Order: sequence, then structure tokens, then C-alpha cells
Amino acid sequence: MIYLDNNATTKVDPQVLEAMLPYFSEEYANPSSIYEFAKKSNHAVKEARGVIKDFFNAENEKEIIFTSCGSESANTAIRGVLNMNKSKRHIITTKVEHPCVLNLYKTLEKDGYKVDYIGVNSNGELDLAQLSESINEDTALVSVMYANNETGVIFPIEKISEIIKSKNKETKFFVDAVQVTGKIPIDVQALGVDLMGISGHKFHAPKGVGALYVNSKTLITPLIIGGHQERGKRAGTENVPYIIGMAKAAELAVDTLKYEASEVKRLRDKLETNILKNVFNARINTGGIVNRVPNTTNIGFEYIEGELILLHLSDSGICASSGSACTSGSLEPSHVLRAMNVPFTAIHGSIRFSLSKYTTEKEIDYVCEKIPAIIEKLTNISPYQEELEALRKRKA
Ligand code: PLP
Repeated sequence: MIYLDNNATTKVDPQVLEAMLPYFSEEYANPSSIYEFAKKSNHAVKEARGVIKDFFNAENEKEIIFTSCGSESANTAIRGVLNMNKSKRHIITTKVEHPCVLNLYKTLEKDGYKVDYIGVNSNGELDLAQLSESINEDTALVSVMYANNETGVIFPIEKISEIIKSKNKETKFFVDAVQVTGKIPIDVQALGVDLMGISGHKFHAPKGVGALYVNSKTLITPLIIGGHQERGKRAGTENVPYIIGMAKAAELAVDTLKYEASEVKRLRDKLETNILKNVFNARINTGGIVNRVPNTTNIGFEYIEGELILLHLSDSGICASSGSACTSGSLEPSHVLRAMNVPFTAIHGSIRFSLSKYTTEKEIDYVCEKIPAIIEKLTNISPYQEELEALRKRKA
């Protein structure tokens, strides 16, 4: 099995699992309890908070809230900011956000909020002029993802922060950083963001844990109301083993950033170069030179069906995806590729390959060998033979 779907989820690092294990059946005390037995779990959560604080380069441990996932981090940030400032009813986001953000905004629109959705160009890059023009006196929140889950395109967060602050100092800035963790360094202070969400299972921690950075100048209401955990910002007994696991994963992620930037990127580029060389109807959907996370490529195979490609890849033991895990399975073309105006001839046959630190050269060589034959077979049964012939001649 060759796993090239690491933007959907990642394998738990064995060192992460090892760090978690004692907190299931040995150090299982509730960290809020006052007896001696609870000291170790309490201390471990404190230490983990320090590690995650450093991971974000936050100023203070108090700025970190542990959550259950990236979706909860985003929902807490967005609703939390809006609830603190109910008189402001304008929000700015992008057309290419993850459904956990986009679907929340659809709900908020029904509640009377005005939401502006900023577009992207054909390479997937954000229209900063449109973003700048959209900010006004009433803008409570701007929310932009750090990198797109389908294309890997990185948005210029520092620049966006400068634009926001120059237009309206009171507007809060939330960044969904789920797809950059472990791929590029994060520094909330240098970036100038107010809130940032991450999810453990995207960087080799288990599913079911995430974190939200909220800077000390930003007030939010809790999404989950109950006990006083997380300084009253997120009720619920702390998920001690998973928090410990995410902190370990964060430490390991910092150590592997250089490897991601060099080796993972080299393998991703090798995969792209080989496919472009050997498959005449392949195109990189992000086009020319775009700032992308090192592990992701989104390739359109023209005039063939993406689901069929995925099934054939799966028959060869290769796991990839035709969009975000939430939209694959539906035949609706990806909202991200639609926003980029990817031609309809390629949008249905678009595949995302996402690598990780565990991807080997041998695996990439195997995928490079298998893909041309799979695509040729599907090209031969495509109903668009005339168009394919014309394309073949153009590319020859
Ligand atoms: N944001 C982005 C960009 C994502 O890619 C994902 C998951 O794919 C999420 C948010 C949601 O994260 P989670 O699955 O932890 O809720």
C-alpha cells in the first residue's frame, strides 16, 4: 500500500504513540483533581501546552486552547469572535476554504451576517486587491486558510495581516493553519494573526485532538460550555493522552521541517515531472511558479473521470484523493478547482497526491511507473476521442 493522501490524514508516528500510552491506563487521573495521583497528568498537560505555545511561537501558554479537531478550532474562533462583538455583522473569507469554515459561514449568512468570499486566480493565488477593498468599518473578522488542502497553495498571511491592520485595526484575523503544520514553520507573532487553528491528525498525531491560538488581546466566548477547563474557553475534561501525543508530534514536526522542504519536495517534484513527461493529457492545476507546501500536487487528467482514476490507483495499491476528504465521494467538482477556473475538461479528472515524511523514493518510482498505463487505459475508453486526438497533436 502506497499512501499519498496525507492531506486527508496521516499515520501516527510510533514515537507519538509511545508518548501517549502511559496516559491511558497508568497516569489516567483527571488533571483537575487535587490529589497527588493527578499531579503527573496535570503536569503533562501543562508541559504540552508549553510545547504547543512554542510551536505557534505564541507569547504565552494562556493563548493556547486544546480542542478536538481543526473543525472545532475554526468554529470556536469564528463564533467566539463574532459573539464578543455582536454589533459588527461583516465577515471576509475566501472561496476556497475548507467546508468546516465555508459551511459555518453559510449558517451565519442565514443569521444575518454579510459574508464576502474572496476569489483566487487560475494558479490558486488569492486576490489581495479584492480582499483589501472589501474591508470596512463593519468588518468583524477576516478568515483565511494558511494553505489550501486541495492544491497546497500558501496564502501570504503576513501581507494579509498588514492589509487588515491598515484598513481596520479592530478587525480580527483568524487563520486555518491545518494544512501547513509540519510542512512550513509557523510564527503567529511574525505573521500578525489574532487566532490560528491546527489539527493533530494532519501531522502524525491521532485523530481527535487540535489546538487554537487566541492572542491575549482577542476575547472569545466558548463554543462548548460547561466546566472551567481551558480557562473557561472550552469545557470538557482534557483529553490527556491525545494532548500529550499532539505535543510530541509538534516537537517531531519542528525537527522534520528541513526534510519536508528538501526531500519531500524533491519527491513531489519528481512525481510531477514524470507524470507531465509521460502523460500527454496531464496538467498541474496550480500552473506556473506558485508558493505551495512541499508535499502536495493537484494534477488534472483531461477528458477522463477522477473517480475511475482513483479506483484504478487503488487496484494498484495507491491511495490518493479527488479533492478534500469531505467532498470526495460526491460527484460535484471541487469548489476549489471551480474557483480557479480549471477547465471543465480537467476538473473532473483532477487528483490530489499528498506525500509525507514516510513517503519513499521507491514508492514514488512505483507510482510514476503505474500512472501512464492507468491513464492510457482510461483515455482509450473516454468518449472524447476527437478532443483527445487534437490535444495529443498540440502536445506532440
Ligand atoms: N481545515 C483544513 C484546511 C483541512 O484540510 C481540514 C481537514 O481536512 C480541516 C480544516 C478540518 O480538520 P479536522 O478534520 O481535524 O476537523
